[in-house]
Amino acid sequence: MEIEALAKPAGILCRHNTGTACGIYLERPEACARWHCLWRKIGALPDELRPDRSGVVFSLESRPPIAEAPDEACIVGRAVDGVHAFDRWEVAEAFAMFVREGSLPVWKASDRDATMLNRGPKTPARRHRGRAVPRRSPNLPG
Ligand code: SF4
Repeated sequence: MEIEALAKPAGILCRHNTGTACGIYLERPEACARWHCLWRKIGALPDELRPDRSGVVFSLESRPPIAEAPDEACIVGRAVDGVHAFDRWEVAEAFAMFVREGSLPVWKASDRDATMLNRGPKTPARRHRGRAVPRRSPNLPG
């Protein structure tokens, strides 16, 4: 995601990423410290959905992952290590759970494309699918 405090654009690996951790963890910008994936935020999600185990990061985002879709908050499940992660049963069940819950649009995204799985209550009738754009800073309360 974009980190303004580091002048880091979205879609560019942070210069402080060591490959295994944050090289400035104790002094990292507030935007980094405040951001948590939904596995961290929702205590009921099982250990199998931890992003490094499932291969998918679920997050609450302020904009959809494709430019053509209307700006609105949404849940995005991003494959971080290949789209095969979407085939895992626990990942499929997590998408189904967020869709059933229904308060926000749910997107399935990879580094190449993104598909809206459901419409949230405010989303226009058209479904969306398209080329994914890099994440920008979430601006929703943590
Ligand atoms: S936590 Fe922030 S500062 Fe650290 S590597 Fe990630 S983006 Fe960079």
